[in-house]
Parts: sequence; structure tokens; C-alpha cells
Amino acid sequence: MDWDRYGFNTRSVRAGQVRTAEGENAEPIFTTSSFVFKDAAQAAARFAQEEEGNVYSRFTNPTVRTFEQRLASLEGGEACVATASGMAAILATCLGLLQAGDHVLSSRSIFGATRILFKNILSRFGVAFDFVCATDLDAWQQAIRPETKILYLETPANPLTEIIDIAALAEMIKSHQALLVVDNCFCTPALQLPFTMGADLVIHSATKYLDGQGRCIGGAIVGDEERVGDKIFSILRSAGPTMSPFNAWVFLKGLETLDLRMRAISKSADELARWLTLQPNVERVFYPGLESHPQYELAQRQQKAAGGIVSFEVTGGKEAAWRLIDATKILSITANLGDTKTTITHPASTTHSKWSPEERSEAGIGDNLVRVAVGLEEVGDICADLRLDLCAE
Ligand SMILES: *Cc1c(COP(=O)(O)O)cnc(C)c1O
Repeated sequence: MDWDRYGFNTRSVRAGQVRTAEGENAEPIFTTSSFVFKDAAQAAARFAQEEEGNVYSRFTNPTVRTFEQRLASLEGGEACVATASGMAAILATCLGLLQAGDHVLSSRSIFGATRILFKNILSRFGVAFDFVCATDLDAWQQAIRPETKILYLETPANPLTEIIDIAALAEMIKSHQALLVVDNCFCTPALQLPFTMGADLVIHSATKYLDGQGRCIGGAIVGDEERVGDKIFSILRSAGPTMSPFNAWVFLKGLETLDLRMRAISKSADELARWLTLQPNVERVFYPGLESHPQYELAQRQQKAAGGIVSFEVTGGKEAAWRLIDATKILSITANLGDTKTTITHPASTTHSKWSPEERSEAGIGDNLVRVAVGLEEVGDICADLRLDLCAE
């Protein structure tokens, strides 16, 4: 079925579905570890990859395949490999595409576990990693080496929502053999399509907005046939960081409402950000939808809406930030994001606590910073839950 001619919301509801002989309307969950062949010759052909079809759910499962095809269609990529988590997607990408001697150039503002995977784990296998200030194009340019194989970034970045110019970086590496890899977790394809701006691979933590309801852990890589369909798929096949069929089914249901949710969340986040700028005891608000955001113009160009992450600095330092967090009645105190339930966290002591104080201050992550990941409650209730009156020195 050729889904390309259908609109985004049609594909998010239907792409990838293959109805069985039972005539079901919703996608079934294939909870089976293995598949049966009609005879020995077919078994041999499937193992030799001469015949397409199911073999074993570590690397071929119909529910997981439906999720992969739906996400590939939404991102506009040829192939997709689903994984057990977002981190497994990043690991599988590195294992599939890198070898000792290679160099990876990464934005400094990336997910905490990604930084640890790069710096502390993969660097033990002879791959070198460098981290640059995400919005400084000259810094990227200067740090590229002949052996640089991957440029890695997230945009908007966490927690300060810096926007990185995907098209400019894609242009910069045209004459290099490096791949531009974008973790599209914060925007999802509903708000940002990295392939249309020259990215080579898109990574997802499906745990966040793709599920959107805080239920399951999962991840995915989207890209071309050769890299994703072949090289990264062989890591899945042999190393096994597999997504479970049940989780794939949950993510399929999540994708069906992705655009609706991302628009509603962005609208509420925008209202929250504007409200915060007017409050006493709020020193600074970070949100790409605010005209005062340093990359506001770029965000307008690159994204369909500004997304759900709003960060802000309060007067009174860490104690005030903690008082504000502790006084919330409905917001969930958790570092997770991408849920219907709005979450609130103190980055310096949670998501970025493994960074040294120098690294945090260099990145601008202060002790007075609070991050809210907006969900689907009434925005007035979210505002009312933030007791900024408690933030005075
Ligand atoms: C959560 C997250 C990850 C890791 O995903 P898991 O599903 O938790 O393994 C990677 N990148 C970003 C931007 C994330 O927010």
C-alpha cells in the first residue's frame, strides 16, 4: 500500500496496518515468540532471507512491523527499526554504523543517558566523542574531523529549549561522509520533519510523545534502507534490543492521536510560557514560541509549533525552586515528559545531576531552573498549581 499520497493524520491512523483473515478493525497484538513454516524448504528460505516473512519475534513480529511502517511513513523515511527503549535505539545506531577509530560530534545539550552512553561506555570501544555548544555553527564546523562519522543532536534541546539549525548542519556536512542524526523526541514528526531539512537518520524515544500517555518504554530509528533496513536491523537481529509486541501496539494507538496531542500541548505550553513571563519571582522563561527566545525565527521555520517543554528560572535559587515543586497539587514530580499528565522537575538535581557544576553552569542550567513538560490538563489549572508566591528569596 502506497501511503505517501495520504495526509499526516490519515497515515498516523492507518499506515502499516495489514488486516488478517479475521477482518479486525484495530491492529491485533501478535504475542508469539516464533512463527511456523509450511515446510522445511520455507524455513530454509526464511532463514537465508531469500523469502520475506516472520521467523522469530526478536527481529520479525507483525505488530512491531506495523508500528515501524507507520512511524517510517510519518517521518518520511524508507525504513524503521523499533527497539526496546530510546537508549537501545541510540546504541543500535552506534553499533550498526560505527567502528573503532571513528569520531562522533555531538551537541552538548543532549539527553543525560545519551551523554553517558557516548562518554563512558562507547568511548571504551575506540570511538571518540566530542561535545559542542549546540547553537554555535562555527563550533560544529571547527570540530569536524576526517574520521567524523556522525553529527548527533536534539532540537529543541533539554531543558533550555535551544533550537539547532538542522538544515544548516546538513549543508555543512555535504562535503563530508558524516551522517546527521536527529533525536526527534521533543517535536515528533507532527511538529518537525528532519528528513525534509537534510537529516540522514531520525531517532525516537517512543516512551515520550509517541505513546503520549506514559505507559511503555520503547524507541525507534528511521532512515534509509541501507543503514536502517540493513546495518541497524542486523544489530537488532543479532543483539536483540527488541520492542515487545504489546508495547508496539500501545505506541500504534499513541500515534493515532499524535498530531491532536502535539497541537493541544503546544497551545497550552504557549499559554503557560506567556503567563509565566508576567509573574513575579520568575526571572526568565525558556520557550521557543516566545518572541524573546534567541532562536524564535528558526523555531518558526523549522517547527510547526513550539512543543510542550517550558523551563523557567525563579528568584530564590534552588530552595525556592524546590518549594515551588513541592507545593504542586496536581503536577507530577517526575523527570519524564511526553505524558498527558503535566510533569515538573528540577533539572540541576535530577536530569542533569550527573553533570559537574561547571558543565551545568557552562550550559546555563542554573539551580533556580524548573522544567515543566505540559500535558493535557486545563492550562488554567496548571498555572494555578505553580505557587510562584513561594519563590521569593
Ligand atoms: C527519554 C529520552 C531518551 C531515551 O529514551 P528511553 O526510552 O528512556 O530509553 C533519548 N532522548 C531523549 C531526548 C529523551 O527524552
